[in-house]
Amino acid sequence: MKNWLTKNFQPDMISEGVDSIDFERLKAEGIKLLLLDIDNTLAVHGSHSADDYAHAAIGNMKDAGLDVFILSNAKRHRARSYADSLGVESEGMAYKPSPKVLLSVCSQKNLDPVSVCMIGDQLLTDIWAARRAGVKSILVNPRSAHEDLHIRFKRMIEKLILKISKSS
Ligand SMILES: [Mg+2]
Repeated sequence: MKNWLTKNFQPDMISEGVDSIDFERLKAEGIKLLLLDIDNTLAVHGSHSADDYAHAAIGNMKDAGLDVFILSNAKRHRARSYADSLGVESEGMAYKPSPKVLLSVCSQKNLDPVSVCMIGDQLLTDIWAARRAGVKSILVNPRSAHEDLHIRFKRMIEKLILKISKSS
């Protein structure tokens, strides 16, 4: 059980937020492409356009020489309009934790999954999808504290999974 949880849900790194990730270091470690979640990662839940926080974070990623691609489970038109406000490529309806769309982006970009890193706030979607696709993963703390009941329930499960997979 513990091995299964670690294999599927242990992120390579945990960070406070996308504003505190060392993108230069990721680049030096061989990462070429970042796959980014929208809700509660780049944006406060439900945003249709990017705020200063997201613009600054995307700027830091690009300055480090990383390619950026937004990969969201949100509806396509919303993912598209959000990504357009940042001037980056995107795919909505990604069906994370399915690894399918992550892998198709890797192959479109002609990149080995080990040179790709998924950044997101949910273990049960973003990190699981990353682990299944074989890409690196960074879990960030959710941007907003106000979340629907079903998401708060998922947070409890996520905390438990992290606790078990970290225990020795
Ligand atoms: Mg999210």
